[in-house]
Amino acid sequence: MDTFDYIIVGAGTAGCVLANRLSASGRHKVLLLEAGGADRNVWIHVPLGYGKLFTDPRVNWLYQSEPEPELDNRQIIQPRGKVLGGSSSINGLLYVRGQPQDFDHWRQLGNAGWSFDDVLPYFRKAEDQERGADDLHGTGGPLCVSDVSEPHPLCEAFIGASEQAGFPRNEDFNGPTQDGAGYFQLTARNGRRCSTARGYLKPARKRHNLTVVTGALTTRILFEGRRAVGVEYRQGGTLVSARAAAEVIVAGGAINSPQVLQLSGIGPAALLQSHGIPVIADMPGVGSDLQDHLQVRIAYRCTDPITMNDVINDWRQKVAAGLRYLFYRKGMLTIGAGYAGGFFRTDPALESPDVQAHFIIFSSDKSGARLHPFPGFIASICQLRPESRGFVHIKSRDPAAAPAIQPRYLSAQADRDTMVAGLKLLRRIMGQPAMQRYIAEERAPGPACVSDDDLLAYIRSAATTIFHPTSTCRMGSDLTAVVDERLRVRGVAGLRVVDGAIMPTVVSGNTNAAIVMIAEKGADMILADAKAGAPAAVAA
Ligand SMILES: Cc1cc2nc3c(=O)[nH]c(=O)nc-3n(C[C@H](O)[C@H](O)[C@H](O)COP(=O)(O)OP(=O)(O)OC[C@H]3O[C@@H](n4cnc5c(N)ncnc54)[C@H](O)[C@@H]3O)c2cc1C
Repeated sequence: MDTFDYIIVGAGTAGCVLANRLSASGRHKVLLLEAGGADRNVWIHVPLGYGKLFTDPRVNWLYQSEPEPELDNRQIIQPRGKVLGGSSSINGLLYVRGQPQDFDHWRQLGNAGWSFDDVLPYFRKAEDQERGADDLHGTGGPLCVSDVSEPHPLCEAFIGASEQAGFPRNEDFNGPTQDGAGYFQLTARNGRRCSTARGYLKPARKRHNLTVVTGALTTRILFEGRRAVGVEYRQGGTLVSARAAAEVIVAGGAINSPQVLQLSGIGPAALLQSHGIPVIADMPGVGSDLQDHLQVRIAYRCTDPITMNDVINDWRQKVAAGLRYLFYRKGMLTIGAGYAGGFFRTDPALESPDVQAHFIIFSSDKSGARLHPFPGFIASICQLRPESRGFVHIKSRDPAAAPAIQPRYLSAQADRDTMVAGLKLLRRIMGQPAMQRYIAEERAPGPACVSDDDLLAYIRSAATTIFHPTSTCRMGSDLTAVVDERLRVRGVAGLRVVDGAIMPTVVSGNTNAAIVMIAEKGADMILADAKAGAPAAVAA
């Protein structure tokens, strides 16, 4: 059995950051295991290509939720990256950190070292901000952050309409204030995606002390007593074991990290026993507290043929867009999952925005579906801090079988109220003169949908995820928290979780940037503990 100092399970957003930072000194032998393959698919690297990766089983786990009771029992798609870079290789590229209040709240929950002032240096360390460095932004980091390649008249109309509705223009959602409307920045450079596989892993690949194994599904963590000593993984048809002299670090993301822990005997005892898995630590919190952002979209038919639908549906414009991208790295192919957007308060008395809008210049019936054959665009709204909590539970001992994913969207009354208020707010913006000039028709939900009951019924029938599951191995100091503030799994030794699963509460924005920050900080803590000879264990 090969021995490493650190074994990292999952080469996703967090895993690639960890692999780079833990192997940087050359002193530690690091093994990075990834269930998916190399990031060779060309659509990974072209920003607009994310639309093609939604349904591609070669790079995507293609999970589905269980039927959701508050969403008319619909099953909601749960795409997750299964490739080097993980979900950062298939995501919509939007660079949004969340609000300073999110991290201050984490600190108030008892997590020392996680206030905004504590985490800001890690956001800055990670970043290579195209606009240059300032108090809030960094340059020279591995994660390229860039402006959209050019403005668009529909985005200008959306921002103008927001101003007409009383919300300011905001040039930087990661600046001094999140409020208002503007263009998103993207994790991209020169029109190419900057996943963590590109930003962090690629420059580290040639290091002699880093081993990267793709096509390697971790089946379980190996324990001696209550100490994690290695992992077992399946590559092709073969089971391989590897030993970790220092630590096993699980970075499988919010769906797979709790699954791997549960398969290994760390989780709710009754659940594990029902699948015949010997219990190493009875931890009811593993897989609980699942949170996600739910979004609902309003689709419009546009008056003018200036949308992406018009480009995609006309081969001449399509070829021209391809050439423009090839030669100038501009145009439609450089667009992420939102072009413009905004952060708004449904009640002016709130301390910070509670909803986020995404504005895109194409329209389709659902995410990843064919674009409409007429000019169209979409504005969506999502609630930033949902109170609903769900779970991820294994359904089988088979590590290749999908777990049950039950976000329990809208199970809290506050979430239903905020979604309805958000939809009304978005319609108010879209009803302003700057935007009305481009609206031929509201196609969905349509003008007949007016009362709060109508709006809630529409949300139940049409809302879907915006792909931000978190918190299934929640950091905290309470009895059901899974990791402590140094991201060590409670009650066992030699084991951490470092990824989106550890968020105490989902951040008020898109999740990738905050997970890069978590991994940067996690790597720092792992290296500091190694230097200090601190045990990677905490009392249960
Ligand atoms: C379609 C989509 C669009 C999104 N858009 C945005 C956006 O625009 N902006 C934004 O900020 N965020 C966005 N997100 C969310 C963001 O990308 C994720 O929150 C983030 O990438 C998750 O990081 P992670 O490290 O927690 O997990 P992941 O990046 O998902 O990494 C987990 C990795 O572990 C691997 N793995 C899992 N289980 C095993 C196992 N048993 N053995 C070996 N390997 C395993 C997986 O294959 C994967 O590579 C989007 C997500 C999706 C899916």
